[in-house]
Amino acid sequence: MNELRDLYQSVILDHYKTPRNYGSLDGATGSADGVNPLCGDHVTVHVRVDGDTVAGVGFEGNGCAISKASASLMTEIVAGRSVAETETIFSRFHDLVTGDAEVDPEELGKLEVLSGVREFPARVKCATLAWHALRAAIAGEEAEVSTE
Ligand code: ZN
Repeated sequence: MNELRDLYQSVILDHYKTPRNYGSLDGATGSADGVNPLCGDHVTVHVRVDGDTVAGVGFEGNGCAISKASASLMTEIVAGRSVAETETIFSRFHDLVTGDAEVDPEELGKLEVLSGVREFPARVKCATLAWHALRAAIAGEEAEVSTE
């Protein structure tokens, strides 16, 4: 179990130090800010929705390792999915980090590395921040999303 935990830890640190899809997004159709005042996380998520497909996603901002790694992993997993699939993944990911329901690891791919968050309830907001912002960006809402 410790080896698995170390592996998860190293994937999180990798995405924290070298975030994927970091920066503005060409042709973005929506952007939304997410703030988590409790931890000081701030993330801006950009999306390019083409029909019913999340054709592109990027993010900017700063925060703790969990918030940044989660945003980075999110950009990788949702790109090219339908809006409905994105909602489903968020729902399953929420179950994963809260421990509210059993989740089939196969369903979430690399997001599984954030499963340890369930042991730290305060960090759930860090892990889900970018996802809330993504949902708002897809909806084309200008409003800022706050965890508080
Ligand atoms: Zn945080």
